Amino acid sequence: MEITEGVVIESFEEVPEVRVVRIKPSRWLDFKPGQYFQVFIPDGDDIKPYSVSSPPSNREYIEFCVKRVEGGHASNFMFHTEIGDKLKMQGPMGRFVLQDNIGNDIIFAATGTGISSIKPMIQTIFERGTDKQIWLFFGVRTENDIIYKKEFEKIAAKNRNFHFIPCLSRALEAWRGERGYVQDAMKRLIKDITNKDVYLCGVAEMVEQMRKIAEELGFTKEKIHFEKYV
Ligand SMILES: Cc1cc2nc3c(=O)[nH]c(=O)nc-3n(C[C@H](O)[C@H](O)[C@H](O)COP(=O)(O)OP(=O)(O)OC[C@H]3O[C@@H](n4cnc5c(N)ncnc54)[C@H](O)[C@@H]3O)c2cc1C
Repeated sequence: MEITEGVVIESFEEVPEVRVVRIKPSRWLDFKPGQYFQVFIPDGDDIKPYSVSSPPSNREYIEFCVKRVEGGHASNFMFHTEIGDKLKMQGPMGRFVLQDNIGNDIIFAATGTGISSIKPMIQTIFERGTDKQIWLFFGVRTENDIIYKKEFEKIAAKNRNFHFIPCLSRALEAWRGERGYVQDAMKRLIKDITNKDVYLCGVAEMVEQMRKIAEELGFTKEKIHFEKYV
């Protein structure tokens, strides 16, 4: 697979400890919502996968959304990128992608930067237009940690069939939304699984628990799509 060079055109902290990095590739790379690139980390021989968090319709740049991991080599490098920095990347890769024709309602569930691969899927669905019901269960600690909050609220304001459900594990008293883990919220709120697909992305533990819950609810294996970030 070909290696492409890109230059950082924007880099900013989206929420505490999570940075959005926008890269203009030297040539355009077609990708599907949900795919990732292997990014070469210049100081050392490291190469790490990062999901594209922008939709393919945006041909201005390829966006990554990176959580800084304490002592992490690649994430700290990505976190400290500045405008003008050059990066090499290989891809696109990955089979966790949005189907071309959405025949069913979709339940998305993500934790933390697992939202990176799911955001372009949701953006693409609503760019194309849909009459299906789309849910997003998004697990983070506090309201300040809700990555891409404005983007999702905008989609929800325009589309009554988009149900944006942040689930906070350490919510303040004033929080009126869901508390606890995405697993519990989905179990409680999704009763009827007819004509529904599930897409899961995030840390392995959440994905495994959600797969189990989805199977208990009656979802067959081919209706459960997932990507683990470890
Ligand atoms: C398909 C795929 C797509 C991915 N997309 C994204 C993405 O869009 N955004 C993103 O931020 N990450 C993403 N990741 C994770 C990313 O590739 C790196 O693993 C992550 O950034 C940590 O790399 P590092 O070099 O900084 O840490 P390392 O130097 O590899 O690890 C340092 C230490 O941190 C621990 N550690 C590693 N990852 C985590 C973590 N997530 N939380 C807590 N501790 C950890 C390790 O066990 C180790 O002790 C993706 C992973 C996969 C497999």
